[in-house]
Amino acid sequence: MKMQSVSVVVPVFNEEANLEQLVERCLSACDTMGRPYELILVDDGSTDTSRELIQRASEAHNQVVIGMLLNRNYGQHAAVMAGLEMSRGDIVVTLDADLQNPPEEIPKLVAKMDEDYDVVGTVRVPRCDAAFRKVGSWLVNRAAQRATGVRMHDYGCMLRAYRRHIVDAMLMCHERSTFIPILANSFARRTTEIEVSHSSRGAGDSKYSLWKLINLQFDLMTSMTTAPLRLLSVIGALISLMGGGFGLLLLIMRLWHGPDWAAEGVFTLFAILFIFVGAQFVAMGLLGEYIGRIYHDVRGRPRFFVQTTFGKSRLRD
Ligand code: UDP
Ligand code: MG
Repeated sequence: MKMQSVSVVVPVFNEEANLEQLVERCLSACDTMGRPYELILVDDGSTDTSRELIQRASEAHNQVVIGMLLNRNYGQHAAVMAGLEMSRGDIVVTLDADLQNPPEEIPKLVAKMDEDYDVVGTVRVPRCDAAFRKVGSWLVNRAAQRATGVRMHDYGCMLRAYRRHIVDAMLMCHERSTFIPILANSFARRTTEIEVSHSSRGAGDSKYSLWKLINLQFDLMTSMTTAPLRLLSVIGALISLMGGGFGLLLLIMRLWHGPDWAAEGVFTLFAILFIFVGAQFVAMGLLGEYIGRIYHDVRGRPRFFVQTTFGKSRLRD
């Protein structure tokens, strides 16, 4: 089999303190693989000296390091997408620029890819992040496992490897809010994960503020599923049923204990209110069903990807 080439894609946002070490460690790790590779550094609108450092690195390592500067900050996943578009390798590895993902793990990922997987994910052991991030990740990973049906334990880790046809499929998806590991898994047939080490941030602070994290969670949820829209109908139906049941109970008690019961109609009002509130939820859920379908259609994702075809018929001479 032909030696498969590797592209390493790294999004960079104000990482001047880590860049030099990152490039050095990536290059020496990739050199050990003995196969053609490229390192693509995508600057996501940094305001520090990252841009100059990237330029310098690509000049110093001509033919290996490619620098790509976006004109402003678009977010990590948009930056990675830009890098994927530039990449030419048969295998594409993504990792973070802050040295939390040790570049030394790249050869391990690539070796695993040689066992003919479409996507190789990673589990960070031990994970070096703030406790609230770990709890958040745990919740999100459980949700992602259910929604995608792919049993991966750690969707948050960006140290991952993708095969060319998966990358091409992702590039055909033009929606603006993406979460790359989830998007990739929606096209992958054979996936696996390996354990990798994780460090605390090399230098600088996390580039994710609480607000950006919340934003990311919504990107993740909406890119996975429209089930929350359906939940509205379900909740509405439950409230309505409860209202109906309550009304029935009031009626029985009224007949049994006489008109004094039920606080002269106040409770009855509540029962009626519940029924109507529930009906409103059901109506919203119904709207949600339409919106969900509109959302699927405007994303315009290709319905399928043909990997290979065999044979020839007389019709196509
Ligand atoms: N990043 C980016 N654009 C952004 C935010 C982050 O390109 O708007 C990059 C950042 O430089 C790093 C990676 O995405 O390479 C992960 O960011 P960070 O380490 O801050 O996230 P955390 O580890 O806190 O999840
Ligand atoms: Mg980090």
